Amino acid sequence: MTDKYDLIVIGGGPSGYVGAIRAAQLGISVACVDDWLDGQGKPALGGTCLNAGCIPSKVLLESSELYHRARAEFAEHGIMVNEARLDIDAMQGRKSRIVRQLTTGINALLRANGVAAVAGRGRLLAGRQVEVAPHEGEPHVLRAEHVVLAAGSRPVELPIAPFDGESIVDSEGALQFDQPPPRLGVIGGGVIGLELGSVWNRLGSKVTILEAMDRFLFMADSQVAREAQRQFKRQGLDTRLGARVDSVRHVNGHVEVRFSDREGDHHISVDKLVVAVGRAPATQGLIDDSAGVALTERGQVQVDGQCRTSADGVWAIGDLVRGPMLAHKGSEEGMMVAEIIAGRSAEVNYEAIPSVIYTSPEIAWVGRTEDQLQESGQPYKVGSFNMAANGRAKAMAQAAGLAKFISDPDTDAILGVHIVGPMAGELIQEAVLAMEFEASTEDLQRTVHGHPTLCEALHEAALSVDKRAIHAINR
Ligand code: NAD
Repeated sequence: MTDKYDLIVIGGGPSGYVGAIRAAQLGISVACVDDWLDGQGKPALGGTCLNAGCIPSKVLLESSELYHRARAEFAEHGIMVNEARLDIDAMQGRKSRIVRQLTTGINALLRANGVAAVAGRGRLLAGRQVEVAPHEGEPHVLRAEHVVLAAGSRPVELPIAPFDGESIVDSEGALQFDQPPPRLGVIGGGVIGLELGSVWNRLGSKVTILEAMDRFLFMADSQVAREAQRQFKRQGLDTRLGARVDSVRHVNGHVEVRFSDREGDHHISVDKLVVAVGRAPATQGLIDDSAGVALTERGQVQVDGQCRTSADGVWAIGDLVRGPMLAHKGSEEGMMVAEIIAGRSAEVNYEAIPSVIYTSPEIAWVGRTEDQLQESGQPYKVGSFNMAANGRAKAMAQAAGLAKFISDPDTDAILGVHIVGPMAGELIQEAVLAMEFEASTEDLQRTVHGHPTLCEALHEAALSVDKRAIHAINR
C-alpha cells in the first residue's frame, strides 16, 4: 500500500465517504481513514449516520409506527387485528441487517471507485501528514496534497448525568434497548429526543421529555411547532418545557431525575434515561497543534464559505464545521470540496438545506421561519393549507398538520416553506428544488400537481399566499 495520496479524507461518514467517492470519480487518488467498529469489532464505514443515527433510527421509527398503527389505527380502515404482538428481537435484528447491508455497500462503493479504505484513527500532523493508529499494530504516517477533515460529532454529555451505557445512555444506546423501558426519561426535546421518544412511546414506554427551552422546537416555525406539539401530546408524549434538570441519581435500580420549571420542583423516576442535548464536533485528538488548523470559540473547525481551514491544503466539512449538523449538508460539502480540489468551481447553497424530523406527523422545512422574518422586520406574505382538506391524507387516515408558504411581497421569491404532516420529509424537497432554481411563488402556483397527492397541500399553500386557494376559505 502506498503512503502518498492526492487526498486523504479523515472520517468515513456521509460527509467523508461522499467526498472521497466524488474525488475518485474526478481522477484523484484518495485514502479514506475511518475508525468505526461494528458490534463484532469489524470496521464499518458510514459514520454515525449509518451505524448509530439516521438509518437505524429510521428503521425503528418505521417499525414502531407500523406496530402502533396495527394496534390503534387499523380498525379505522376496517381491518380487525386480534392482537399485534411485539417481537423486539426481530425488530432489532432487522435494524442491524439493514445497517450491515448499507455499511458494506459503502465499502463496495469505495472499492469500485478505487478509494483506499484505511481502518484506524487518523490524526492530522504538520505538512498534510496523517498519522493513522490502526486498531491493532503500530501507527503509520500517510501523506497527501490535500486533507479533508470529516470526523463528525459526538453526543454532548451532561456532567450531572454521565453516560453509563446501561441506564443513562446517548442516542446510540437508546437505539439498542432489548425491551421498551416501562418508564423512559429524555433530557432534551430536540430532534433526537422527539424521534427516539416517539419510537419507545409507540412501543409502550411511558415517555417524559424534559426540555430546557420555554418554546417547543424553538428552531422550527412556531405555528408548525405548536401543531406538532398538539399531535405529540395526543400520542401521549409528556413534554415539560422550561425544565431545568437539577440532579440525576441512581436509586434502587431506577434513575431519579429532579427538575424545576415555572411551577416549582418536581421529580420523575425512570428505568432508562436518554440524554440528547446536542452534539459537539469530534475534534479531540484529531488535529496536532503543529498542523496550524484554527478552531472557533465554539470548538468547531474554522472554515471559509468553501470549507478551507486556516492550514493550506486542509479542508473541513460536515459536523466539524459551522452550519446545521445534517448528513445531507455534510455530503454536499464533501462533493464541493472534491470538485474544488479537482480544479472545478463548486459551492453549497446554504440557504436551501432542508431540515426533517421523522416523527409522526413528520416535520420539515426549508428557508426562513415566520418568527425569523418578524424579528428581522422583513416584509412577507404567508399562506397555509390544512392537511385535513387533502384527499390523499384523508385516505391515509393521516390528515393532521399543515403546509405553510412564506414569500416576499415585492419579488414573489419563496422565503420559507414549513410542513407538519404525513411524508413532510419527502414533500419538502419540492420546495427545496423551487428555492434552488429561484422559482417564484407564482411558478409553484402554476405548476401542475398530480391528484390526489399529498403535495397538493403544498400547491394549495402556495396559492393561499395570494388568497387563491381552491379547497380552503381564503382569509
Ligand atoms: P438538538 O440541538 O436538536 O436538541 C437538543 C435539545 O436539548 C434542545 O432543544 C435544547 O434546548 C435541549 N437542551 C440542551 N441542554 C439541555 C438541558 N440541560 N436540559 C434540558 N434540555 C436541554 O440536539 P439533538 O437532538 O441531541 O441532536 C443532535 C444533532 O443531530 C442535531 O444537530 C440534530 O440536527 C442532528 N440530528 C438530526 C436528525 C434529523 O435530521 N432528523 C436526527 C437526529 C439528530
